[in-house]
Amino acid sequence: MTVLANYSFRCLGALAVGAIISICAATPGYAFDWDYSHVKYDLTTDAVLGSAQDFQAWTSEPRKYLKEKFEAAITIEPQVVAVGKPRAMVGYTLTDVDLLFPAVEKNGSDLHMVLLLARPNRPKDGPAIVAMNGHGEVGGEGHGQAPEGLFKPGAQGDKLARDGFTVIGIPDAIHEPFSELAKTVDYPVIWARLADRSLDKIKPMLPEGQKFIALGNAVGGLSSLVLTAMRDDVIALANNGAFFSLEQTRREYRIYTHPFCHDFRAFFTYTAVYALIAPKPLLIEEGKTDALWLGAPQQLKPNDWFSGTKRGPISDEIIGAYLQLKQIWSKFDAPIALDIHDGGHEDFDIPAFKSFVGQLQATHIQ
Ligand SMILES: [Zn+2]
Repeated sequence: MTVLANYSFRCLGALAVGAIISICAATPGYAFDWDYSHVKYDLTTDAVLGSAQDFQAWTSEPRKYLKEKFEAAITIEPQVVAVGKPRAMVGYTLTDVDLLFPAVEKNGSDLHMVLLLARPNRPKDGPAIVAMNGHGEVGGEGHGQAPEGLFKPGAQGDKLARDGFTVIGIPDAIHEPFSELAKTVDYPVIWARLADRSLDKIKPMLPEGQKFIALGNAVGGLSSLVLTAMRDDVIALANNGAFFSLEQTRREYRIYTHPFCHDFRAFFTYTAVYALIAPKPLLIEEGKTDALWLGAPQQLKPNDWFSGTKRGPISDEIIGAYLQLKQIWSKFDAPIALDIHDGGHEDFDIPAFKSFVGQLQATHIQ
């Protein structure tokens, strides 16, 4: 709560006592104030424009901070309580892996997370895919249910498994059971830690030494970003719909039922969080019609679940952020790409992803 200034505090306070959401929606005006007194990390001149060593020196503090938060977020080891019978899909099988995190929720309840393991009938060599979807997968609020949407015909998990990639679908966007923890740990860090502990339980089911590419969509992209920063065996990141302006959302944008689940409160920008995965290969995908991308309508109208925005993102925030990352990746001669596709916020561009993987294989990053 300490980072919230007056307007936002009133909104969350109202929600906390169970008042109806329309109280927030009725508060006039678009812009939100923000208290930056506890925000610590941004890229520095040297980190962007200096040498690779300058950049590496910059990473040590924010990385240490993130690692401490990540490790402390979930200390409980999950148990594998059931492994389902493989379901036959087109070109692959899909297996439910039911994990139990004992007493991890705020009221002392157990959390069940059901992962989906897609095994192709003719698997490719190389990295497996760890996939996390966003709010759309769970209709806003998840509870650890299997991410079946990833494997609907034509969805990214389905298409990639058909194409020979082993895909591990991990639940994301579980807010309410962690709402107390989220006062001190950002949601993407909590969700990434749940994914991390889950992945440790899946690894014995995979070939020895299996490496991964994280494939994140929307808010699942922010969890994927943290997972990539924290795990050595996640060797690359491909995100869609997760490269917008943190500052713009702090100033302009609220989803009332979970207003800060996309935030990294110790950071001034997402750019600084993304930088922490360098030099791991990075693909950023964005849909032309994503309201969080450049060229979106200047103003989105408010409604009963969303604040609206008085402006869309601006080029400094979006293209500027990408160019800073490109500059950092160039210090390591490492692959980075920006793919602008014709879809919307949660539409994955699969050909662009496959081209990215082809590039990794060509440069022997496996
Ligand atoms: Zn959320």
